[in-house]
Order: sequence, then structure tokens, then C-alpha cells
Amino acid sequence: MASIKIFQSGCIEMRRWNNIVFSAVFAVVCMNGCGSVPANVEDVGMQQSFTGSTLNESVQISDSADSEALPDARDLQTEVVKKSGLNTGGENAATDEYDVGEKTQALAAENAAEAASEVTLIMVGDILLHTPVAESGVQRDGTYDFTALFANVKDEIAAADLALVNQEVIIGGEALGITGYPSFNAPYELGDALVEAGFDVVLHATNHTLDKGKKGVTNCLSFWAEQYPHIAVLGINESQEAQDHNIFVYEQDGIRVAILNYTYGTNGIPMPSGMPYTVNLLEEKKVAADIAKAKTMSDFIIVCPHWGTEYQLTPSAEQARWTQIFLENGVDLVIGTHPHVIEPVEWVRDGNGNEMLVYYSLGNFVNWTSSSGKGIADRMVGGMAEVTIAREPEGDVAVKSYGVEPVVCHLSQGANGVTTYFLSEYTQEMASQNAILEQDAAFSREYCLDLCEQVWGE
Ligand SMILES: [Zn+2]
Repeated sequence: MASIKIFQSGCIEMRRWNNIVFSAVFAVVCMNGCGSVPANVEDVGMQQSFTGSTLNESVQISDSADSEALPDARDLQTEVVKKSGLNTGGENAATDEYDVGEKTQALAAENAAEAASEVTLIMVGDILLHTPVAESGVQRDGTYDFTALFANVKDEIAAADLALVNQEVIIGGEALGITGYPSFNAPYELGDALVEAGFDVVLHATNHTLDKGKKGVTNCLSFWAEQYPHIAVLGINESQEAQDHNIFVYEQDGIRVAILNYTYGTNGIPMPSGMPYTVNLLEEKKVAADIAKAKTMSDFIIVCPHWGTEYQLTPSAEQARWTQIFLENGVDLVIGTHPHVIEPVEWVRDGNGNEMLVYYSLGNFVNWTSSSGKGIADRMVGGMAEVTIAREPEGDVAVKSYGVEPVVCHLSQGANGVTTYFLSEYTQEMASQNAILEQDAAFSREYCLDLCEQVWGE
């Protein structure tokens, strides 16, 4: 439905594409101690075989977890997956998934025939584990299972080459107590569900990262390293060395994509004693240095800042200031989170030939605020950013096409009662049963559509 599926032309799709020499080798390079193989590889039916060494044997973090005790993972981890098929998920995304308009469709068909070298990326906003959301994960036998949260959108997540999620709350495990607002902590089973849904990159730099102090972060790092070493965990660090030097780079078909993650702050909670490196903060010197380093290692740079003002539908002055900093430093794509509501998507350009696509805020992916009143329904609406990154005939890697697909968080009491749908698949009948109506009677399918139109346009 064109009215709710926002899609605009990328900066290079209006140019004619030449034949693209395309590598049948699909490599993943990661420098933060975690190999990264997209979870969708099997799902899209790609024939594959692993060669070389196995994935990084994870970083073991001791429970006592003092900074000195934390090992480094500086070695470059390289994983090569050979695939016999040419393009799969990316091709589908370019031809079937998006509402791209006639001219683009023609180009997409041409590209599909050539099996163009490209990377498809999706990202969703905040996973906020308010108490009723945590309770929705409790099953009859008392164990946690959060797969219901992603059940209605997981096909799109798994189909992307790279799927990113903003994990707003730390995953510190049950031993630290599972808590909701204002000092959150999630059980490990939430991480299991993220992986099961197909996410490849988990962004952990948020204002809630330190809600459970040092132990929350070290437990979280241990969980990822031990259970899912192939998942890229960004924004939190196990050592000063890791924070200073590790840049995550995903490589596929010769396209290298760097992803950086920072937060504006941590709700006034100081960094744990002796661990000033725990969370990546939006500090200009650090950000500029990381971007400069990423430029030497990649063809395309994405920054995911946790920024802005909560519940504001338009970017703040601070977001505008950081947007200029990212632009001047040569970032290609910015996808932001934190306001808990959606904000605009736009291209920004400077006089030096820099251009950058900015998603100011994707809103929430899942939440159940306890607040009520006018505007609360806004928090039920989020966006799935959908971006295809490709190599231009001239050799540069750039955004080929992009869009944002509205999602809506559906709430009902009981086990598995909280889940997120694409708004395009969400009927008014379903909306009339969303428990958020008890907190904001204005909520409806039409309300969600109007909000998306207001923020993202037609
Ligand atoms: Zn936040």
C-alpha cells in the first residue's frame, strides 16, 4: 500500500547501471571479537559452506569482571562463506519487496538479471521491556520465551543481509532481577529471541545501558560472547583496547559496511569504576576518530546514534548538530533511536560533495508504557528502515534505494500477548483490541496511518 509504505529514490538509482562484476564469495569481517554471519543465510536457501577457521571462540568474561580481567579480542576475525547462488535476499528486496516506481522497477529488473552486488539492510527501533512486556514472555511452565514479539515481522528481518536492532535495555539475566521502568533489566531469553528472529547486529549504547551497573553490562557481554559469538554486539566494550580500536565491518560481495553505535548519555549513571570504556558516548573527538578509522577499513559508514528528545516527532537542535558532525566527517547513513516515537527521514548535503541519509528516529519496536493520555498512542508506532547499499558503476558504494515500513506494537494481557505487526497488515479490527486503548482512546489504525503521513509524508 503506497500510502503507508514510504519509499523514495536513492541517490544512485536514477543512473544507469553497467554490468557489475560480482564476486561469488561472501565474506564477513569483524574486528570486535565476533565473526558475523547473517542469520538469514540458511533462511533464504543459499547453498553455503564454511571454509577457514570456525567463528571466534567468543570472548570469555570472568564473573568478577574487573577491567584487567577482561581479555582482548583484537585479532581480525575473518569468515568466508562461499555461495553458489548469486543474489538472493537483496534481489528479492529490490524487485518484490519495495514499492519503487516504474523507472526503478525497470532498473531493478535489469539489476536482478545481473545479480547486482549489493547489501540489503533493515533496522528496527527500541526494544523496551516494560514490566507487562516482560510478563508477556512468561510461559506456562514459568520459563521465558519472547519469540512472539517478532513472530509477525521475522520473515523480513531474516531476509535482510544485515538486520539491526536497538536493544534499549541491558540483557543482564535473571540473576540481577528482571525489572521494568525506570531501571530496566532483561532476561537472556530476550537475546535468544532476537537471534531467532534473525537480527545480526545488536546495538547496546543507550541511556539504559548502565541501569544494572557494571554487572549488567558484563553479564550481557558474556551472554553474547558465549551463546552467540556470531552476533555483532555494538556500543558496549569489554576493554579500553576494544573501545579504542575495534570497528565492526561487514563485508559481502566486496562491499564493506562499517557500523558505529553511540549514546548521548546513561541517565546520569557514571561509568563503572575503572571501566570508562563500558559504553560508547557521543563525544565528538571519539566519534570523529572512529569515523576516520572506519573510512580506511570500509566503503560505507553507518552511525546509529541514541539521541534526540523523547516523544518529539521532529529532530532536536542536538540531533541537527550531530547530523552536521556526521556529515562533515563523511558518514553515509545515520539511523537514530531513543525518542520512542518516529521522526523524519531525509537526505542532508553540504557544499563539499558530502551527502548522507538520516533516519532521525525509528520509534519503538516494542513497549508497553504505563503512561496514559493524549499522544501515548504515538509510542505504539515505529518504523523498519529498509536500505539497499550497492556499488555504483564509478566504483563508489552508496545508497541505492531506501524506505521505511511502519510497524505497530499490539498489546494484550497474558502470555505472548505483546507482538509487533507491519501496519500494512494491521486491521482496524485488530487495532480495536489493542490494550493501549485503555491508556489513549485515540488509538486506531487510522491514527497510526495519520501519524506516519505526518512524519514521513505520503
Ligand atoms: Zn533511550
